[in-house]
Amino acid sequence: MYDVVVIGAGPGGATVSRYLAKLGLDVCMIDKDTFPRNKPCGGGFSRTILDEFAYLKPRAHEFMKGIAKVGVLHSPNRRIVLEGSVDMAVALRTDFDNVLFEEAISAGVLPLAGIRAKRVIIKDDGVTVELAGGKSVQGKVVIGADGVTSMVARETQLNRRWPSSSITACRVCEVPTSTQDILDRYTEDLKYHFFTNLGGLPGYGWIFPKHETINIGLGLVGTHASGLPRMFDAFVRFLKKKDLLPEKSDLSTAKGALVPTAGPIKQTVADRCVLLGDSAGHVSPLTGGGISYAMRAARYAAHVIASAIENDTLDSATLSKYQNLWQSDFGNDFRNQLLAQKIFTSPFTDLLFHIGSKDTKIQEIVSESMAESSDGNIDVKQLVSRTLKVCFREAFRL
Ligand SMILES: Cc1cc2nc3c(=O)[nH]c(=O)nc-3n(C[C@H](O)[C@H](O)[C@H](O)COP(=O)(O)OP(=O)(O)OC[C@H]3O[C@@H](n4cnc5c(N)ncnc54)[C@H](O)[C@@H]3O)c2cc1C
Repeated sequence: MYDVVVIGAGPGGATVSRYLAKLGLDVCMIDKDTFPRNKPCGGGFSRTILDEFAYLKPRAHEFMKGIAKVGVLHSPNRRIVLEGSVDMAVALRTDFDNVLFEEAISAGVLPLAGIRAKRVIIKDDGVTVELAGGKSVQGKVVIGADGVTSMVARETQLNRRWPSSSITACRVCEVPTSTQDILDRYTEDLKYHFFTNLGGLPGYGWIFPKHETINIGLGLVGTHASGLPRMFDAFVRFLKKKDLLPEKSDLSTAKGALVPTAGPIKQTVADRCVLLGDSAGHVSPLTGGGISYAMRAARYAAHVIASAIENDTLDSATLSKYQNLWQSDFGNDFRNQLLAQKIFTSPFTDLLFHIGSKDTKIQEIVSESMAESSDGNIDVKQLVSRTLKVCFREAFRL
């Protein structure tokens, strides 16, 4: 019997597995894919990840594909643009996730890659994970790090399924081009672009220029996602017209993927079970960014589980210390991001962009929070009070 069986080897699963192994526990990490594998993603995250997870620093050259220094935000009507300075790392997920996967193995984790976990059975004395092909694995605890369509969340009934209003359906493509072409279009600052509510629909579009690829994507909230392929084609045409994408772009690798964007689920623990990352809804509702949240949740989960195993108390009340830890670290981020999401998808968004265009401070606040470049939080109170101040300032100028 393993101490811990982790399902999913993405940023959440690989990180929690590594920390658990470093704490001396026997860990089995299962993923349906073999690594390296590509996760459809923008690949943008705060550079602070490298300070928080310092073991990644010596390998940063393997996955880092540039630093975006300026963010450009486009209003829904695409007439107003806000610009601010940011500090966002951009990576290729194939490389980034592979480094995390290898670091977990180096720490002593046993990987079972290319095998789907089908069922989880939790009993008083342990957990059984049934695998495709008929085999099974036993553990004292199971961690669901199995992403947005989490089987563990479903089986434990912590989240049977996301309502379509809580999911954003995306289409994303890593478009290859030359470094010179990228510098010409996006400058040395690797200006990233973020588009709110394209075509008046709730969602977002983005361009993350990297060293040799331009990552473009479009996400629409599930309730409005039926026209996603058509909208993506229109988005591509628009980008070409604006010279943001080469006329001859190879879009053959464009892929669809889901991300939860309505905040975390209420309960992220059960007896002998913890959920983290996308399976728990640890994703910014404003930007769809979840890499750093998954990794931070993973670190909390590892410490709580290690001490629970030492004390042989693996009930949900004991494991809820994990929930308290992530909530007090970044639970408030999600509340603010949800509020900001409401503001940015309201009929007044163009007007707010207009006000923002008159004030550099507003532009800094908004571009920082869209870029995942700070700690991911958006100070809505500061944004609202600044907006009111600019309104008064402008009114008295008239
Ligand atoms: C289009 C798109 C763009 C995004 N852009 C960004 C961005 O720029 N920045 C950012 O921070 N976040 C971004 N995100 C969100 C980010 O990808 C996720 O938040 C992050 O990957 C969460 O990590 P995770 O480990 O929880 O899940 P994942 O990375 O999804 O990993 C889950 C793993 O579980 C495995 N798995 C699933 N089910 C099973 C099973 N039954 N058995 C075995 N294995 C299983 C999968 O193969 C996968 O490897 C984006 C998401 C999408 C969809």
